[in-house]
Formats: sequence, C-alpha cells, structure tokens
Amino acid sequence: MRRPLDLSAHVARSQNGPCFICQLLDGNPDYAHHIIAQDDDSIVFLSKYPTLPGYALVCPKPHYQDLARDMSTTQYLALQGVVHRLSRALSQVFDAERIYVLSLGSAQGNSHVHFHVVPLPKGVPYADQQYHALMAEHGVLDLPDAEMAATAARIAAVYRDLSD
Ligand SMILES: [Zn+2]
Repeated sequence: MRRPLDLSAHVARSQNGPCFICQLLDGNPDYAHHIIAQDDDSIVFLSKYPTLPGYALVCPKPHYQDLARDMSTTQYLALQGVVHRLSRALSQVFDAERIYVLSLGSAQGNSHVHFHVVPLPKGVPYADQQYHALMAEHGVLDLPDAEMAATAARIAAVYRDLSD
C-alpha cells in the first residue's frame, strides 16, 4: 500500500535542509535511518521513502558531490563493490527479478553522492517497472518502523555472510 508523499516538503528538505547523509553519520536522531552495513568508507541504509520493499542507499562517508570529479577510480570501484554486495543480498532476500542501480541528486539538492539500489519484485507489470517503480511521485510504501528495522536486519544478515 502506497501513501502520497508531500513532494513540495520533500523538495524543500532536499534543497534547503542540511545534508541528510552527513547528519545521519553525525548521529543526529532527526536523520536516523535503518542501517544495513558500514565500513570506514561507506554506509548502506534503507531509504525513508521506499517505493519498493528493500529500497536502499549506498553512500561514501565523505561528502563527495560529484563522483567523476571528487572520487578516484579506486574509490569509485570500492563503492561499487559495496553496491554489488548489497545487490547480491537484496536479490537473495527479495527473490528479485532485477536490481536497479541509480545515482541521483545534484548540486541543487541531495548533493552528497549516493546510489539507489532497489530490488524489483517478480511479477510487476512491465509498464509499472523501471522509472515508474522508483518515482516517489507515485507514492511511497507506508511501512511501520518495526517492519523497516526487521527488513534492514534481514538484509544485513545476508550481506554479512556473503563472500567476495
Ligand atoms: Zn553530506
């Protein structure tokens, strides 16, 4: 069941609020998310505005704003290693038909580099897949916090046990 998202408030937060990723890393409780994994260089957590179950974000810990200008190839490939490991975990937990991966945001809003990593459930009609499945404009899932916590824990357990 999806609920409508207050898009204008969401846009205002994205453009005028502090960096939600840096606030999360600083431990600001207003920006708490359900964390799946982290290491010295990256953090993985569930999106607060999921359009599909298991909708997760992968972020470098430093406030890089542009993956081409601010990250070396080595740093970028290390981050993609995290994206792939998460993709494998999501694929197992959700028996996904596909794992979507996107880098969004810009200097104008949500500027901290982050990757959306999203499992597409099997059986979604083709017309409802791809961008349609990811756009919060079509509403976001109304998931209780306890369910989000349990989902993060399930993904984290699989993620931990994966070998390279
Ligand atoms: Zn930041």
